[in-house]
Amino acid sequence: MSEDSAAAEVARMLAAADSAAALTGAGVSTASGIPDFRSEGGIWDEFDPSEFRYARFRSDPDGFWERRVEMHAAVYGGDIEPNAAHEALGTLEQAGVLDTVVTQNIDGLHQAAGSETVVELHGNADRVICDGCGQQQRAAPVHERVVDGDVPPRCSDCEGLLKPDVVLFGESLPQTALQRARESAREADIFLAAGSSLSVQPASSLPRTAVRTGATLVVVNLEETPVSDITEYELLADVTEMLPAIADRV
Ligand SMILES: [Zn+2]
Repeated sequence: MSEDSAAAEVARMLAAADSAAALTGAGVSTASGIPDFRSEGGIWDEFDPSEFRYARFRSDPDGFWERRVEMHAAVYGGDIEPNAAHEALGTLEQAGVLDTVVTQNIDGLHQAAGSETVVELHGNADRVICDGCGQQQRAAPVHERVVDGDVPPRCSDCEGLLKPDVVLFGESLPQTALQRARESAREADIFLAAGSSLSVQPASSLPRTAVRTGATLVVVNLEETPVSDITEYELLADVTEMLPAIADRV
């Protein structure tokens, strides 16, 4: 099937479906200049992952936060904007054909592109959360405090340690997000996985859950994935081209 007719076919199915969910991974944000953390030349070549473990956050919050702010600046310091893939998913939701975006990304670019129902499996780097009372706030002012030497930053209400609102190594995924993600996979007639290698839990199991409960699985990714065997439409393509091609045809 040519890419054009595949896009048209997926668009037709989306328009006809009662419920559709998307799952996105690092590949959706690389065109926005955010490196895939795991890839060669990625962030973990420059920073040591062990510095960002939850245990380190607890035992040495000063050191953790100083490195965290440096890493945040290295990843998000540039002019980060949503790309055509984010825009296409935002358009599909606005058009009423996509119900939920479940994302492994922590960059907030889906919301910036107009997606409103976004399930963040790994949190959001633009927020911090109090490890004591759970209160959330914007990250930028907290990062400024760290740069000004106010380490570790503490909650103004309970004096608890502030933590980036992302899933650190050694931390479990947020249960509410995980439940919502599974629910959207079970409810979906069409499950569209985009820019994810689908190799890390729970991204690796959500497509299988969706298919088991009756969904048609569409995968848009540069490479084959471990769920190729159950993928009805495997579109080995650039997400910034294929997702707009689909959205344009809905
Ligand atoms: Zn607090």
